[in-house]
Amino acid sequence: MSATTTPPAYDDNNVFARILRGEIPCRRVYEDEFALAFHDINPQAPVHVLVIPKGRWVSLADFSAGASAREIAGFWRAVGHVARELGIEGPGYRMLSNVGANAGQEVPHFHVHLFGGRRLGRMLP
Ligand code: IMP
Repeated sequence: MSATTTPPAYDDNNVFARILRGEIPCRRVYEDEFALAFHDINPQAPVHVLVIPKGRWVSLADFSAGASAREIAGFWRAVGHVARELGIEGPGYRMLSNVGANAGQEVPHFHVHLFGGRRLGRMLP
């Protein structure tokens, strides 16, 4: 693993940064020291929630290389907690993260989508 990889530049005006600063409202479902979870504005399933870390990370690689072990653990613990609280854990759900242009990442702040509430079709490329 290279320690010299330059992390992608973080845009402080991206929509999730603005939500974290309280400049744009969101339908919040959970918040703690490490993460914020809120309903997607354009839901693709009956349950469609985004979970974002509080730090300035663009992608999973960026987050996992730059965040502390405490932040990383706290974030993933929050993701699991949110899935349970939303009631999608039992029936099942999908967790997805788009990274970069090939995946069509729209918002350059690392985030995890949680989809549930119905049978989800197979969605492998
Ligand atoms: P991705 O970057 O392609 O993984 O997706 C970004 C997601 O953020 C999309 O599903 C959008 O509908 C969602 N989104 C964009 N702006 C807002 C907002 O202001 N509130 C909640 N969700 C948003």
